[in-house]
Amino acid sequence: MASERKLILLTNDDGVHAEGILALREAVEHLGKVVVCAPDRPRSATGHAITLHKPLRVAEVRMANGMTAYATSGTPSDCVMMAFVHLLGRTPDLVLSGINDGPNMGWDLTYSGTASAAMEGAIYGASSVALSLVSTTGLKDHDFRPAARFAADLSELILNDPLPPGRFLNVNVPQTPEGHIAGVRITRQGVRRYPGSVEERVDPWGRKYYWLGGELPEDQLLPGTDVEALAHGFISVTPIQMDMTDYPLQGEMGARDDYGDLVQKWLPRGGEEVTEREEEELRKAISSQQGDEEILGG
Ligand code: MN
Repeated sequence: MASERKLILLTNDDGVHAEGILALREAVEHLGKVVVCAPDRPRSATGHAITLHKPLRVAEVRMANGMTAYATSGTPSDCVMMAFVHLLGRTPDLVLSGINDGPNMGWDLTYSGTASAAMEGAIYGASSVALSLVSTTGLKDHDFRPAARFAADLSELILNDPLPPGRFLNVNVPQTPEGHIAGVRITRQGVRRYPGSVEERVDPWGRKYYWLGGELPEDQLLPGTDVEALAHGFISVTPIQMDMTDYPLQGEMGARDDYGDLVQKWLPRGGEEVTEREEEELRKAISSQQGDEEILGG
């Protein structure tokens, strides 16, 4: 039996016209039917936000290579939902989010529009991958092509053998000439925390305003993590699951006296009594309502 042509959805939190999504599209175009649906402007660090209180616009636009794409006025997750529910007609075989201009490692994932779009794909039941380019040299001219070629290799693998439900892969590729990529590591999520930074300024009317961020993250080079892999020039592939439960802590809390006391305190007291009283009140309410109806009917 001839297999159906694969359907691949591409999105990107840097917007539909970003260099990263164009390089990605050109690298995976041969793997199936590729549909691009991405925000019409940069929407980095919007996390998993979706647009609920204003209308969404979708427009067909041309990418720099002349190929058509859908651009929405929404977030990366809006784009994925819009594609799954409205544009594609069927569940795609693969969702690729990226290639982001900048890292998405460790705790970045909680802020990342790139990772959240892949998460949205996983929620809708498709194998999904978040892809990010990490500049290790400080070079401004980013070459997304090596990362795009890696994305194509990984995509081929996943199209042959889909990911388990509720999972996605978070990929970070170092920005180095391809020959200098040290290799690929299957990693775990590391620790990367941005020191809070708030810069206070004053506008022309004398009112204070603020800029957030700007500080370099505090990376911990824990062994086996994405952060450590990138520090050593490796491509990092981290399997991420939707289930964020801390199972050891769940067990520990279940065994502790203070949490046990809290559970005891919130048990329904004198359950039967309450139920009897409630039943009595319900009976009264019903009979008085019937009385009302009789009066009205009469
Ligand atoms: Mn971005």
